[in-house]
Amino acid sequence: MDNPAEIKEKLAKACRILYHQGWRETYEGHISYRVPGTDTVYIPAHRHSAETMAHLGNMDADGITVVYLDGRETGLEEPVSEYVIHTEIYKARPDVLSVCHCHPFFATTFSCTKQELLAISRHTALFPGGVPHFDAGPQLVHLVEQGQGLVKALGQRMAAFIRGHGIVTVGKGVEDCLFRVDWLELACRTQFVASQMGELNPWTWPEMAAGHFVNEVQGPAYWRYYLQLGQEKGWW
Ligand SMILES: [Zn+2]
Repeated sequence: MDNPAEIKEKLAKACRILYHQGWRETYEGHISYRVPGTDTVYIPAHRHSAETMAHLGNMDADGITVVYLDGRETGLEEPVSEYVIHTEIYKARPDVLSVCHCHPFFATTFSCTKQELLAISRHTALFPGGVPHFDAGPQLVHLVEQGQGLVKALGQRMAAFIRGHGIVTVGKGVEDCLFRVDWLELACRTQFVASQMGELNPWTWPEMAAGHFVNEVQGPAYWRYYLQLGQEKGWW
């Protein structure tokens, strides 16, 4: 996928999926894509103004802009204000081609605790080694230093909680990045409900990694499911 129109269309659909699947509070969140082997990143533009109220739920291809990892000017629209979440991860992780930051309810609530995500359900198979907590302070992630802190907390893992704020997931494509948002929210919801039912019964992370519940290869299958759902429900 290196055709600009195709990339923009895909990211716009991913935004609408985030919105309609309810992985959000109000209208916020963003997902980006890095063209493989380049420093070119496609990312939603900053349009949260009263005049141009573009958001996750009404995102179109023309709401997607470009940033370069070396910070050189594009002459295009400004990206979302928390773009350093994306750019710092891409700089540090050549394996990552997609980054999503959003605020799904259960995962965001989890970020307000010191609880560790446990390998108690199949959803956690997408997060080998667990999901670290990152604290950017009681503020948005706007500074390069904060982005670098997030990169350090994330390490080689595939998601992180941002304290009192939300989550970030990464992927080898838009498909598995979005799939991880879905399953991190399910994992947090499941752990919360299970904790009310009785003593939690986790596997270790190495046991989960050696298992066969699910892996990121299934991302494209989930993507096709989301596309079909959107078609049925008129999301675009
Ligand atoms: Zn946020």
